[in-house]
Amino acid sequence: MDESQARKLIVEIGKLLYERSYVVASDGNVSVRLDENTVLATPTMTCKGRMTEECLALTDMDGNPLSDKRASSELAMHLLIYKMRPDINAVCHAHPPHGTAFAVAGLAIDKPILSEVILTLGCVPLTDYGTPSTDELTEAMKPFVAHHNALLMANHGAVAYGEDLWQAFDRLETLEHTAKIAILAKTLGGAVNLPADAIEKLVNIRERAGYLTPEARCQSCGYLHDNGVFCGAEPSIGLKPASSGAKVSLSREDLIELLSQAANLS
Ligand SMILES: [Zn+2]
Repeated sequence: MDESQARKLIVEIGKLLYERSYVVASDGNVSVRLDENTVLATPTMTCKGRMTEECLALTDMDGNPLSDKRASSELAMHLLIYKMRPDINAVCHAHPPHGTAFAVAGLAIDKPILSEVILTLGCVPLTDYGTPSTDELTEAMKPFVAHHNALLMANHGAVAYGEDLWQAFDRLETLEHTAKIAILAKTLGGAVNLPADAIEKLVNIRERAGYLTPEARCQSCGYLHDNGVFCGAEPSIGLKPASSGAKVSLSREDLIELLSQAANLS
């Protein structure tokens, strides 16, 4: 993406994040990958609602500065995602209140309650707590980055990523909206999960449309299974307490059958 366009867009998205209370004070950070070795990122200690195009920092893919502005201390999270996902060119990290409430409560957003969320975003796993701006945080994220487009970070917040900045922002917003609906539904007596056959149809559609790959049928999803057979992540890392409530009634045989059907369709 052209650098001056990217600067305008990051400032615009920063205002949206702030106006929607997805961030306060100097929370959160946004970046765009301009080319294979250049990232444009929000600066450290700056409110995302009051940024200027000039305040943004340029770095290389190892986080070394390419300008006199200092990038956010959480840039490592963005660089990890870019390195693991060549299809991703933009990352949005924020602390949206409803999504972050899930992360604080130790819950993933992995219940099959909204058809369009299964289609477009899939489940949002909860990664282990890691101290912000350290390797702990990126190590905890690693098992999940490949097969998910948004993550919750325990006792911290959310990160979403996409082919471009609008897609990254939209995914963050879908995450937050889903969390809000789940919390509201709980006050009305609890959400009703979609049945397994409806989930199967949605997952098949999303794979045919290329929204998410079959590998996204991750153990932490809770959408299809609860025993970690098909996840790219290490089972001990992927299984969160939150997943225990997200069971659906499919046997291992049913799952194998579903996955082979999906493989034949694609
Ligand atoms: Zn943060």
